[in-house]
Amino acid sequence: MITGCNEKAEKTLNKSYKRVLQGLNLKIDFPNAKELHLCKRHYKMIRDAMRALRGNV
Ligand SMILES: [Zn+2]
Repeated sequence: MITGCNEKAEKTLNKSYKRVLQGLNLKIDFPNAKELHLCKRHYKMIRDAMRALRGNV
């Protein structure tokens, strides 16, 4: 679902994570999708970024 990523999607995140994607300069193929389907690698990337954001609060 990530533009340019050909790996198999194994994880699903809700759309509130889209802003994290934008923060990481990642683009998705379906901007209006309700859920994000991500490969393991991108899922981990986003989860780590989200944790870092929370850590700054
Ligand atoms: Zn990926």
